[in-house]
Amino acid sequence: MSTVITRKLSGEELFRNIISHCKEYGFIFQSSEIYDGLSAVYDYGQMGAELKKNLRDYWWKAMVQLNENIVGIDAAIFMHPTTWKASGHVDAFNDPLIDNKDSKKRYRADVLIEEHVAKIEAKINKEVEKAAARFENFDEAMFRATNARVLENQKKIDEINIRFKNALEANDLAEVKQIILDLEITCAVSGTRNWTDVRQFNLMFSTQLGSLSEESSTIYLRPETAQGIFVNFLNVQKTGRMKIPFGIAQTGKAFRNEIVARQFIFRMREFEQMEMQFFVKPGTELEWYEKWKTTRIAWHHSLGFPQSKYRFHDHIKLAHYANAACDIEFEFPFGFKELEGIHSRTDFDLRNHEHYSGKKQQYFDPEENANYIPYVVETSIGLDRLFLATLSQAYTEEQLEDGSTRVVLRIPPFLAPYKVAVLPLVKKDGLPEKAREIMDRLKLDHLCLYEEKDSIGKRYRRMDAIGTPICLTIDHQTLEDHMVTLRDRDSMQQERVAIDRLADLVHARVSLQRQLLQLI
Ligand code: ATP
Repeated sequence: MSTVITRKLSGEELFRNIISHCKEYGFIFQSSEIYDGLSAVYDYGQMGAELKKNLRDYWWKAMVQLNENIVGIDAAIFMHPTTWKASGHVDAFNDPLIDNKDSKKRYRADVLIEEHVAKIEAKINKEVEKAAARFENFDEAMFRATNARVLENQKKIDEINIRFKNALEANDLAEVKQIILDLEITCAVSGTRNWTDVRQFNLMFSTQLGSLSEESSTIYLRPETAQGIFVNFLNVQKTGRMKIPFGIAQTGKAFRNEIVARQFIFRMREFEQMEMQFFVKPGTELEWYEKWKTTRIAWHHSLGFPQSKYRFHDHIKLAHYANAACDIEFEFPFGFKELEGIHSRTDFDLRNHEHYSGKKQQYFDPEENANYIPYVVETSIGLDRLFLATLSQAYTEEQLEDGSTRVVLRIPPFLAPYKVAVLPLVKKDGLPEKAREIMDRLKLDHLCLYEEKDSIGKRYRRMDAIGTPICLTIDHQTLEDHMVTLRDRDSMQQERVAIDRLADLVHARVSLQRQLLQLI
């Protein structure tokens, strides 16, 4: 086997290269690009739509197909406006904003402070490194001086953090502004400290329902899919004869008017969530919360990426509706960030819907012979973030033994957009016809790509770049011995295999059964 060297890329380089690769190979385009795009909105191209669908399917199969007590629904994006009053989104789904009067640029006040503090911390860390070097060089006086400065700065930062946390908790926007002034934070565009007051800004998009403006009422584009599940809780429970504990799963679009929208598809204004609300008997919710933490991390690990890329982040400050919450964080090229949230939401949502609708949201428990509002444990993952996590892990640049390079997407085969590429060596002598015959057999089960343009080497590279796990090459010998060359994307190994065995071989390599089996 030939030696392959994987290029080590910095996080920044990796992220930049992934973004341009996504565009070049039809994974992701900027929305309305011909009009210079729409900020933080993206379109999935022909490759991206397939990968996204496969990720969504894998989640759905693991949640709904493998669990007899979980069913799936597809609720509308528009919901009765009172829904968002009951859920707390009308009153409390806010970001604190501040504008610079000179540049007119708008910032999230909390992000301005956090980023400023992070910069100071980075400076301190550098000082600490320097101090360590001085210590090694026995320059004790310098070491002590640096150490004292570091400790003093660290104390200042701790004080700011406490002040900032208290201000946010007390919703004291004047104090948030004062912290920005005290820290002497300047606008990155104008360079001035000419700030407006801090205001709360609701993240929900609103629109009008109805054709005549006098008759219309304001409705919202849902900021999360969960409420569509809550308002259908009794419909599903009754028609599906569901017994507690049971879950309702849903995938779909959500919309948030994010102010600091950046990092490509990590933070978008229109994105897709995959959520599951699990309804349990009150008092058992923390047990189920732990169980869902274990189940969901096992699902992430089943994708086959290194386990060191994931970690839990337990929430210390809980949202008003939760009695336990954590994030599953993934190490993106820009660091560990939230990929999925797991929340024990108590009976907050159902109780509020009962209150606002005047309709009982209770379950009759035949074993207890009692009615109660169930408690809920939620798992909520962003499909776009999962997509980005997959690409961050799969994108690899390699230097081959002959000096050439290749970019390969090592996407787990069961998730790859195309599973098989069918490649006649030349465009004549009956090879295309034979290739089509093979393609026609395989395409009943798998998404296959037929390609006859360019040299075979170039075609292999293209298939590597879109992550196709198997290439089948049909050559003149195929017509005599009914065998093709099967090339493996990751190892680049080639073997001759009989056409009759292809269906089984392909199935064994790309089927998701092996992954699902790990979850049972
Ligand atoms: P963050 O703290 O990053 O803003 P969040 O805590 O507000 O996220 P949740 O409300 O818990 O997120 O939503 C559940 C999941 O939906 C998140 O774990 C994330 O994967 C995804 N998600 C949330 N906001 C966005 C967004 N603007 N763009 C893409 N995905 C998102």
